[in-house]
Amino acid sequence: MGDSPSSPSTGVSIPNGTEFADGDEPPSSAPRPSSRHPAWADVPETQWNDWRWQSQHAIRHPRQLLDLLPFSEDERRAIEALQAQYKLAIPPYYFSLIDPSDPRDPIRLQSVPSPLELAGAAGADGEDDPLDEDKDSPVPGLTHRYPDRALLVTTHVCTMYCRFCTRKRATMKRGGWDAVSHDDRRMVEYVRDHPEIHDAIISGGDPLTLPPEKLAFFVENLTAIPHLDVIRIGTRVPVTLPQRLDDDDLMALLGGSGKIWIQTHFNHPREVTPEARRGCDRLRMAGMPINNHAVLLKGVNDSLATQRALCRALLRIKVRPYYLFHCDPVTGAGHFRTPIWKGIEIIEGLRGHTSGLGVPTYVVDAPRGGGKIPLMPNYLLSASNDSVVLRNYEGMLVHYHPTGEPVVSPEPVETQGVSALLEGQGEVLLPEGNPRMLRRRSRNQANGNGHGKGKGIGRLHDGGRPNGNGHHHDNPNGHGSGNGHHRGNGNGKGKRGIVP
Ligand code: SF4
Repeated sequence: MGDSPSSPSTGVSIPNGTEFADGDEPPSSAPRPSSRHPAWADVPETQWNDWRWQSQHAIRHPRQLLDLLPFSEDERRAIEALQAQYKLAIPPYYFSLIDPSDPRDPIRLQSVPSPLELAGAAGADGEDDPLDEDKDSPVPGLTHRYPDRALLVTTHVCTMYCRFCTRKRATMKRGGWDAVSHDDRRMVEYVRDHPEIHDAIISGGDPLTLPPEKLAFFVENLTAIPHLDVIRIGTRVPVTLPQRLDDDDLMALLGGSGKIWIQTHFNHPREVTPEARRGCDRLRMAGMPINNHAVLLKGVNDSLATQRALCRALLRIKVRPYYLFHCDPVTGAGHFRTPIWKGIEIIEGLRGHTSGLGVPTYVVDAPRGGGKIPLMPNYLLSASNDSVVLRNYEGMLVHYHPTGEPVVSPEPVETQGVSALLEGQGEVLLPEGNPRMLRRRSRNQANGNGHGKGKGIGRLHDGGRPNGNGHHHDNPNGHGSGNGHHRGNGNGKGKRGIVP
């Protein structure tokens, strides 16, 4: 498995052309504000930092867009054609994160229309409602799928229209909202009348674009429902228009609920700017935990380097990477979809290699309303009556006895590999050159007890449990050194621990 051709594999490029490797500081740590596209270089700071100015000056028409970036003839034609079908909106702040010299820029791919969205283009096929949300809708605008949760689609407006949006039938599609007509009061009443619902998601579109009185209607009425423990606000405002979060009244409304969690949607580390950090700080200081729902998007973030950098950048601003969604089969977004193994590969490279706080759950939202199904690499390799063989992130295989000491086989069979672990012929199988064991060996040698000769890594051994002569195996690199400290050295003491 490897990275797609469109994805960086060794580092993540940032607009000024430098590269930051996974271990380096991302742009989010820079104290200066994000740079601007030259078109807005002379806009005074007060206006630039005003969400109303940003909203009013969002790019909403091809004639604005086509002057700001280089486009091919195909792209120009597609942008004009798609305007009749889908809405366009990109605030100057978010647009300025695009590197104009890179036609495959990840911010550009998310926000600027592409010829690949046109009907008949490769990957353009899909469904308007791939998750059957409307079919699980007892009240227009409300989806009640899981036993204790309800989703309320409260608006069709977004600060930026993501080209891969699962709900584009209601948000981006012109006239789409009419087909999803809704009734605010009935949605709230439905939640109130269903005591089994403990978690309501106010979504859209982006609910932070709602007029203040309408947002207050949802927040205050839902907050007052005693059986509702959690109210989630699904918003991309921290990513695409973080200036909106400077509004004290908005913070007071949301923070005053005491039940609100924010679920936001950063997809790329370059979106984690000083402005985004400030917005997230304000949400958190107002009492709202923030979780991130990223979508795995081809060309945008389908590489381990990008996902590691994203998760680390999010942790720095105290946003928890919560979900990594496989891209849904939505109309006109097929070009963003990746094979499933790409997501598995990314989780393989995150789990164990980085803080558990920074590892999202990779999920596929199943068709026909099947809901979220988590997927991950295989860590359970085999099992017997009394034990299992598990694999850790290093490739170390461990024979694990979940309920205590293993039953000793009356008829041991000489065998190899995972089967040998299950037969009790060892406890651990280590890959050759395991860096953690090399570090142990260095420490042991520095401490003067390095009796290992560096041989034997990559072989089965008994994993450091007390052996027949009372020694511990915290230096497994010493196998085969003939020093008599280890089991499995042919002297008949203890269990057989080494299988060459
Ligand atoms: S902000 Fe959310 S609802 Fe709006 S277009 Fe993007 S993904 Fe869709």
